[in-house]
Amino acid sequence: PKHEGPELYQVNDQSSIKHVIGVISGKGGVGKSLVTGILATELARKGHKVGILDADITGPSIPKMFGLSGLHVFGQGDKIIPAQSKGGIKIMSTNLVLENENDPVLWRGPMLMGALKQFYEDTLWGDIDYLLVDMPPGTGDVALTVFQSLPIEGVVIVSSPQDLVQVIVGKAVKMAAMMNVPVLGVVENMSYMECPECGHKLEPFGPSHLQEIVDEFKVADLGRIPIDPKVAASCDAGTFESELPEGFIPEAVSAVEA
Ligand code: ADP
Repeated sequence: PKHEGPELYQVNDQSSIKHVIGVISGKGGVGKSLVTGILATELARKGHKVGILDADITGPSIPKMFGLSGLHVFGQGDKIIPAQSKGGIKIMSTNLVLENENDPVLWRGPMLMGALKQFYEDTLWGDIDYLLVDMPPGTGDVALTVFQSLPIEGVVIVSSPQDLVQVIVGKAVKMAAMMNVPVLGVVENMSYMECPECGHKLEPFGPSHLQEIVDEFKVADLGRIPIDPKVAASCDAGTFESELPEGFIPEAVSAVEA
């Protein structure tokens, strides 16, 4: 009854999804896809059945991270078989249906939503414990419509120390509140950097604002992720899943599991 506006998508009868969790950010480029990938990898390592719906339709980066660059999904009847990572994570993304993944996606609203609807409803997800949705960045029209079209149970917010004085992350918190979706907590990415020589911690984007955000918005602290060139390199090389150290952002993983 809380649902107003666009239609709420329904998954097909050959699939069953226990929990749909969104990963959102107040703006692009803060590491939303990275956090989606970390959560998926960690949950799968713990034995859960995990899917990723890459709802960042015009800026998809999930397939590349998981080494699925150049791969195309194929159909089975009127349904789509999702791609699968080495660790068994089922993935659906625009990049997996484009003829050339380097082509820009110049789709407007109705086309975007048409693609998203198919990705959710027509994909043969099978049994999934956690479907993580890499949401479109920001709090604009597309993000809102996607939010209203999927049965999202909770969101993890990704911020960076540059999302200064809570303004940007505050928008994400408010968007979730407007949609009546609980915020599971906030992860601060690119929080600091460790000197490889002496271990000294630097804060290239300024000091962390995570504690202020936690206090002001009464949201859980789900951890800080350092800037790590190895992480960026493994995302580019598609080896992210096997190279991710064990026990990354454990608070965030537990918050999704709870
Ligand atoms: P978003 O999904 O918010 O647009 P991404 O997760 O795609 O952002 O990250 C943007 C870029 O920054 C990617 O190339 C990614 O590899 C890199 N990146 C993100 N977080 C980190 C980090 N903590 N350390 C190093 N590189 C990072």
